[in-house]
Amino acid sequence: MKYLYYTVMMYMLLALGWWTVLLLRTHNELYNVKTDLVSIQFQNENSPGEISGSLSQELQSLTSAYHNKKLMILGESMVFGLSLVLGLSFIRKSYQNTLIASKNEQNFLLSVTHELKSPLAAIKLIGETFQKRHLSNEQSRQLQDNLCSETNRLESLINNILMASKVRRDFAIQMKSINVQPVIEKIIQNQLAMHPYVDLQFNTPGSCIAHVDQDAFSLIISNLIENAIKYSMPYPSIVMNAECKEGTLHVTIADNGIGIPVHERELIFRRFYRIGDENTRSTQGTGLGLYIVKSLVEAMKGKIIVRQNTPKGTIFEVTIKS
Ligand code: ADP
Repeated sequence: MKYLYYTVMMYMLLALGWWTVLLLRTHNELYNVKTDLVSIQFQNENSPGEISGSLSQELQSLTSAYHNKKLMILGESMVFGLSLVLGLSFIRKSYQNTLIASKNEQNFLLSVTHELKSPLAAIKLIGETFQKRHLSNEQSRQLQDNLCSETNRLESLINNILMASKVRRDFAIQMKSINVQPVIEKIIQNQLAMHPYVDLQFNTPGSCIAHVDQDAFSLIISNLIENAIKYSMPYPSIVMNAECKEGTLHVTIADNGIGIPVHERELIFRRFYRIGDENTRSTQGTGLGLYIVKSLVEAMKGKIIVRQNTPKGTIFEVTIKS
């Protein structure tokens, strides 16, 4: 496709160049014929003394018309060539976007089927175990914990799908001044209850009052922490900072995970986008988390950026101005 695009573009530009040259040649020939004709006409109609003044005037006006027309031909062919290049590039970009969107939607379907199937299979198995076997207290407690964690996974997936469709339409944000420190701490507690092996450090200089939508803010932070854990296995070490200074809330979440290649750092915020191939990928996900995060941050007139952590991993940085 890429080669076809460049071949068509080259052919059209060469054809345009060729037609421009032909047009200029014809214009040149026409000018020569006109000047010859005018000279002959003057020689026939006037006596030798009268010729030089009015002939040179006539030739001058012919020459200036010739130059104007030449400029017009060159100008028009340049504008045409430029429009051609822009038009073809636009078509190519749209085609590429359609391909990416269709690949992402296909990936999404594959991953969502998998994401729905695996907790459902686990829940079914737990139910059957409860039905068929007599369990000790310890076993039964263990299964109940698994049940809760699988149901939470399912709930979070469904919430993400619903939220992704909500943020595409008019999502009503209700901004209020709140202390975000306890909100973040509660999310961290929940995450640590689910993933007790995570090393998570939260730094904040005491209470942090910011003007945000509490639900949207919670969803942003929990999605970013979940990702930081998911992509830093098996030993996630996460450092979070939250600061409210001069009316600006600044949160960073740094992990020690697999990192994100530079050329993917814009793409990961697209709907359904996941790095790599769905058939070979080992992590679970739908490619909706960061799309929702970015949409919510922007709905609160904030910004999110992603950069490299040292020595490895990723840092997500959210800034929201009051
Ligand atoms: P997913 O459900 O796949 O996690 P997201 O929208 O949350 O979807 O993330 C999109 C992609 O960005 C992920 O598939 C992953 O490849 C990449 N990604 C997100 N967060 C991180 C992170 N902290 N470290 C490395 N890669 C990440």
